[in-house]
Amino acid sequence: MNNLCQSCSMPMEDVTLRGTNNDGSSSEDYCVYCYKDGEFLEDVTMQEMMETCVPHMVNSGMKEEDARKMLQNTLPKLKRWC
Ligand SMILES: [Zn+2]
Repeated sequence: MNNLCQSCSMPMEDVTLRGTNNDGSSSEDYCVYCYKDGEFLEDVTMQEMMETCVPHMVNSGMKEEDARKMLQNTLPKLKRWC
């Protein structure tokens, strides 16, 4: 069970933040914003995912530069992008 979404790197601290498999169970790997009913909600590249995530992280108080650095370190290691 992963605690970070393996697509966008969002922490999934609560089961309600987990996406759903096609049998309705909670996803072990992906969050509710990325994954629903066994499918990714958006067909994006890792670069596009990064561009989507940066503004959210800036909104939550991070500098844009730091957010980018963190995503560049984190996203390539996630299951979806390996
Ligand atoms: Zn996600």
